Amino acid sequence: MKKSTRADRDRSRVNRRDFVRSSGAALAGGALLGLTPIPESVAGRDSSEAPSLFPIGPSQDGRIQSYRTLGRTGFQVSDVSLGAALIREANVARYAFDKGINYIDTAEGYENGASERGIRDALRHFDRKKIFIATKANIRPRHDKETVLNKFRQSLARLDSEYIDAYMMSSVDTVKMLDHPGYHAAMDQLKAEGRVKFTGATYHGPEATDQTGMADVLCAAAEDGRFDVLLLVYNFLNHSEGDRIIATCKANHVGTTAMKTAPGKLRAEPFDPDNLSELYQQYLHLMLRAGQSRESALRELKAYSDEQNKFVEGTKVFAERYGIETDEALQLVSIQWVLQNPDMHTACISVWNFDTIDKVVALSGTKLTAPADELLQESRSSLSPQYCRHGCVECMDSCPFRVPVSNIMRYAYYFESQGRERYAMSRYAALAGSGAAPCTDCAGLCVGACRYGLDIQRKMLQVHDLLTLA
Ligand code: SF4
Ligand code: SF4
Repeated sequence: MKKSTRADRDRSRVNRRDFVRSSGAALAGGALLGLTPIPESVAGRDSSEAPSLFPIGPSQDGRIQSYRTLGRTGFQVSDVSLGAALIREANVARYAFDKGINYIDTAEGYENGASERGIRDALRHFDRKKIFIATKANIRPRHDKETVLNKFRQSLARLDSEYIDAYMMSSVDTVKMLDHPGYHAAMDQLKAEGRVKFTGATYHGPEATDQTGMADVLCAAAEDGRFDVLLLVYNFLNHSEGDRIIATCKANHVGTTAMKTAPGKLRAEPFDPDNLSELYQQYLHLMLRAGQSRESALRELKAYSDEQNKFVEGTKVFAERYGIETDEALQLVSIQWVLQNPDMHTACISVWNFDTIDKVVALSGTKLTAPADELLQESRSSLSPQYCRHGCVECMDSCPFRVPVSNIMRYAYYFESQGRERYAMSRYAALAGSGAAPCTDCAGLCVGACRYGLDIQRKMLQVHDLLTLA
């Protein structure tokens, strides 16, 4: 058998990611933009009966059309910006900058530092002062000032920059953590040296029982006075906490940036045991490697597929009515929904190729059409029970084992929608406690605890299987 080359593997990885994104793994209920083109009927470029969702931009010159003031930083940021979790090389970032995107959200841990290095190479072609770089560090309670400084220096070296615009604490999960002495001492020094211009914080969800929900943490950060920029989950299915945070940020002149802007899936991956798709082949491979028999693995994959089909079934009616054949159209209008709030300063979209950048840049300065707005409203009831709200802690109280449901679902999102399987599995393995393992023998005390209608136990059992494949 021909041995695959690095290029083959990279190509395969990209294809698989594209497939996952465009076909839709409904388990995590989240989504990134895929490569599948907007169907002509949806794009409004033919005379089909489907209502026109696009185009609605003020200009079609292929560049960013709208810039907003990022709170007290005063920086004019593009309304659509680059989430760099999947960026590994300069070309994509350079293309985004060429199009007028001038805010980039990266992190020390993205692609093991390759994201920051890719941005470094892209920056060489631009005026550094015109690009706002926000990077994030995983800072733990035990870290002292020197540790934070070391982390910062490593990011600065990877970015090969004189300074970082916003150096943010990633995944702050308690209000107390906002007071981190090492972080603030390091920031005071770095600001005095001109190495850091602004500080910031993000929230990704609780990992332990004594942690707090997103609004409590980020509203406290906005009121604290030391944080200039926040990154929060904000989308049409999950915005009540976000609205509270945005209002607090506005009152305190704090910059707001959005992530997880496009939840919801319309399609499930077809499962044929005799002709497995690439994605299912990969899952099967992991399961066989973990010692499972082929028969048992296929049975589990079939159950997984059935579950996904069940969730997307409810979306068919409105998908057909609006002529939507892929997840992408739904994702694009979801991003527009975020953009329509002028107090959300920029929507960070995880992109990894040129085509996707073109599509999200085309959203800049646009408004939702009436049909697009209707589409989102109609889709709510179908999509809601499949989407576990990032950062939500509501059902933890009903669980005797305090399973961190939303965090576990976020890891499933990394696995399914971002193609970061190993990272997702390692995060799951590192959870305090045993993750969702107690769900196996539990009487399901969480049944009915989710006001959005999620079947928590079933989800947890599936995700546990997914995140412990190998
Ligand atoms: S299952 Fe429902 S209540 Fe529990 S974390 Fe998810 S959205 Fe919140
Ligand atoms: S099924 Fe899982 S999440 Fe629900 S109560 Fe039991 S252990 Fe907790």
